[in-house]
Formats: sequence, structure tokens, C-alpha cells
Amino acid sequence: MPTDEIRDTTETTLPGIAASPGIAHGQVFLHLQSDLELPAHEIEPARRPEETARFERALLATRQQVQKIKAEVEKNLGADEARIFDAHLLVLEDQALIGETLRELETSGHNIERCFHRVAQRYIQAFENIEDEYLRERAGDIRDVAQRLLQNLLGQSAQSLGEMARAHIVVAGDLSPSEAAGLDRSGALAFVTDSGSKTSHAVIVARSMRVPAVVGARDLTTRVRNGDWVLVDGYEGHVILHPTQQTLFRYGKIQLEKKNIELRLLEASRQPAVTLDGVTVALRANIEQAGETRLVRDYNGDGVGLYRTEFLFLSSPRVPTEEEQYAAYRSAAEALAPAPVVIRTLDLGGDKPMPGGAHLFAREANPFLGHRAVRFCLDQPAIFKNQLRAILRASAHGNVHLMYPMISGREELARANAVLAECRAELLAKGVAFNPAMPVGTMIEIPSAAMTADLLAQDCDFFSIGTNDLIQYLLAIDRVNDRIAHLYEPTHPAVLRTLHRIVTEAHRRNIKVSVCGEMAGDPVYAALLLGLGVDELSMSPPLLPVVKYAVRALKMTDARKLAEDALQLTGAKEAQLLCENFYRARVSVD
Ligand code: PEP
Ligand code: MG
Repeated sequence: MPTDEIRDTTETTLPGIAASPGIAHGQVFLHLQSDLELPAHEIEPARRPEETARFERALLATRQQVQKIKAEVEKNLGADEARIFDAHLLVLEDQALIGETLRELETSGHNIERCFHRVAQRYIQAFENIEDEYLRERAGDIRDVAQRLLQNLLGQSAQSLGEMARAHIVVAGDLSPSEAAGLDRSGALAFVTDSGSKTSHAVIVARSMRVPAVVGARDLTTRVRNGDWVLVDGYEGHVILHPTQQTLFRYGKIQLEKKNIELRLLEASRQPAVTLDGVTVALRANIEQAGETRLVRDYNGDGVGLYRTEFLFLSSPRVPTEEEQYAAYRSAAEALAPAPVVIRTLDLGGDKPMPGGAHLFAREANPFLGHRAVRFCLDQPAIFKNQLRAILRASAHGNVHLMYPMISGREELARANAVLAECRAELLAKGVAFNPAMPVGTMIEIPSAAMTADLLAQDCDFFSIGTNDLIQYLLAIDRVNDRIAHLYEPTHPAVLRTLHRIVTEAHRRNIKVSVCGEMAGDPVYAALLLGLGVDELSMSPPLLPVVKYAVRALKMTDARKLAEDALQLTGAKEAQLLCENFYRARVSVD
């Protein structure tokens, strides 16, 4: 796009999906990732030497950055871990790659970003097709380093995304969960992505970090430029480009009202979670990092119902050691004891690829149906056992529960439990302390697990229903695809019947059932879930007050009747309306 183009700066409202509540007004920082988002233009022959010089400067800057990272990793983690960056440096010095890029500039006449990207893609593909596993892994090195170089060429990379994002609205095609986690620390105002849905992991992270977010904003990345002013409404899912003074004034008022409501809810959340007819409900928190136990206390949660341990792995350039994991799990357990902390074993894969784990995870056509979670762990016994030992050891310091993700049936549960038994025996032999009675549960998030809940209930101490995945797999709705996000219906009859079945089978075997998917954090569904017999709800910490408010406003007898009625309905929309009317009739905080 020519820079002297006159741009339309009239206010425009673009619809998206409300993903994380809050309102933010600020300037855009565009985080470009894929080739589709790369700028494309012709470079006249006379300007090509300038383009070559730009490429050389970017190569130099990238080399310096990689050397700096290497030195830091070496200092913190040791020479072995730092060696991976030698491979990155080699890519940056590869004369064939550099030469081919410059030839591409001459023959195609395209800007250097396009040329380099095209050549790097050819290299990546060539490496990916090699039989030899070691050489195949080099594709990941080229991809990493190419990304960094491209960011330098685009003027983004002198700092990391986190640093660039400070005090900006981050607009991206998509964001990974670890990038989303970094945004909070960097002080980003909000984020908006072209793709994604309410249950994508980046969104889940944003919600617990309290960063407002709108996803599924379609082609926003092509409509804004760095520095444009936008307003993000994470309550309604709107992005307003070039907002007028009147709009800003209106949103200022909305923001004040929302803040007031939040304060009142927080005040009310200091009361116990007891229904009007005297039934106490456990409301627990979902956390991604041990440090978030502070939030659990701030929002008066009854401990942690889901500790997603994969974030420890996502934020590290390599697999964390048993000691590192033990320290994290122990600190969470100690911070909240005697309240429970349910630690879930590793759930990598799906939309949570491990940045430093290219050698552990192959590229898959369907990652959500692929080598994910407990499937990966059972194939990587060393990694799995490290984690199980760390969790067992932490169980000596608090009320630790262990839970497996993505169990598909009884045999898989038995295999996981057998590895756990080995770890117990090893610790026992070494005289290392752990709680021999630590409760062990399983997530129910795959239809086959739901259908065999009666069998699974015989071999574990509790169930936790992962509605994010359960709904995804029951309705065949990819949880990160914005185009079908409207089909993701928590009140679909298939979902309600499945939830009912799981709870019935669990209670028949005297084990408790929690729900820890995003559905549990939506106050509109609190009565439905409790009415279906769910014993505990676990959610992102900032959602605890509003759900507690809903629980305190209902009678369990009414909730049961609501669930019975909902189970009779034939359509998702009718059941949704039933829940909304029930909620509105009882809860009014505005
Ligand atoms: C779920 O699937 O509902 C769940 C809680 O797990 P995750 O969102 O981490 O997949
Ligand atoms: Mg899940």
C-alpha cells in the first residue's frame, strides 16, 4: 500500500466474538505471523541495492539477538540447552539460503520479506520431507529463525511481542496460548484476533489474566495499521475503528458502570457459596501458573479445580525438570492448603504446541484428534514419570489431587495408573515423602469416556468434565474455528444428555463430579449444571464472583426442576432461553 494513500478514518464498528471482558482504548500494534499477512509489493531495479542492505541489516540484528538469547539460556539453563541456538546461527550464516533470497529479489522483483519467506518455505519443506529424524527437526530451526528475521525486516523484532505490545491493542491473525500469557506481563491493553473462539486456549489465558479480548474479527489485520486508534469492547465483542469523542464518552460511562458492578460482586463473593435453600457448592479456580494462587485467594475460590500444568512447559524452551515442576506444584499446594489443588497432568498438543518441543511433536493434519495430552504422555514415559513424581512429592505439602486429561476409556486409565503406581514405588523405595491417599481423578472430555463413565468411575476417585473439549468432540465443532463458533452450543440436547449420564454414573459409584470447562464460568449455566447434579464448578478466577452471585440467588430445588425441563427440550436454543430466563429472573446486579 502506498504510504501517501488517503485513508478513511470514519468510525467503523466491526463485529467479533466477546472473548474476555473489559473495554480498552488505544493504538494498534499489528502482530503479523503468516505469509498471508506479509506485505507484498514490487521493488524497482534502482531500489534493489537498498532492499539488499535492509536484508543484511536484518540478518545482522537477528544474529545478535540469537547470540544474546543463547548467552542467557547458557547462563540460566546450561550449555546443553543453549546448543539449539547454534543451529539457528548456522541458518543465519547459510550462504545458499542468503544467495537464493537475493536471486529471488532480482528475478521476481518482489520486496525482500516476500523473497526470503518464499525461499525459507522451500527449505522448510525440503527438510520436512527428509527421512532422517535429526535432519527433519532442522525444519523447526529454520522456521523459528525465519520468523525472527521476518519480524526484524518488518521492524518488529528489536523487542519481543511482549515488549512491543506494551500499552497497545495487539491485533493478530491468531495468538498462541504462550503469547497470550506474555501479553499480561507486558501490560498490553487488549488483544483482537482474526480467528479463534471463546474456548481457544489463548482466550482462556486472556480471561484469567484479565486482558480484554475479542476474537473472530475476521479480516481486521488487513483493515488496520500500526498506530491506528481502536476501541475494544470485550463485553459485547465489538471492535470500533477510529472511535469518535461521543463513542469514547459513551464507553467511559459503560466502563464505570461495569467497574461498579464488579466491585459489588467482589464484595458479595466474600459470602459463602450457599444456595437459598442451604446447599453449599464448591466453587474452585482454574489456574495456569502457581503464582495465580494469589488470584484464587483474591476472588475467594475454594482452592483449584484445574491446574493446567502445560503452561510451565509452554513458557520454557525445554521440558522442565522434576525439581522445577515439584517447586511449582508444591508452592501452589502450600499457598492454598487445606483447600484442594487439582493438578492436571500435561495436556500439550491441540492448540497448545510446545515452542521448544518440535522434536517431540510431529506436524499433524488434525492436532485436536492427534497426539495430545495423555496419549503423548504414555508414549513419553520419561516425561510423564518426571511429572507424576513431582506431583506425588508435592502431595506431601498440601491437599493435592491428580487428574489425567483426554482419557478415552478404561484401558487408557489403567495404563496411566500403572505408570503412577511405578512412580509411587520408586519414591517409596527412596524414602521420599508423598500422600499415599492422594485422590486420582480423570477428566471426562471425550465422548467415549462419557459413554463408559460407569467403567471409569470404578477406577478413579473423581470426575472433572471438560466441556470445552467434550462439546467440541460431541458436536464436531473445532473449538478454535471462528466460522463455526456459533454452532458451539452448550445447551445442545446431546450435551445435556451426556452431562446427565456422566453425573448419574459417577453418583451411582459415589464419586463427585466437577465441571472445569468454560461453561462452568458462565453464570447463566450455573443452575443448569447444579440442577443436573454437578457437585463442583471450576473457572477462571475473575469469574468466581459472578458465578457465586448466581449460586447464592437460586434454590437447588428450582435448579433441579430447570435441569429436568431442559432435558425434555428438543433444541439447543430453547434450552438456552430457559437458562437465560431462569438467570434473569433471579439475578440482577445492574
Ligand atoms: C476442557 O476441555 O473443558 C478443559 C477444561 O480442558 P482444556 O480447556 O485445557 O482443554
Ligand atoms: Mg480439555
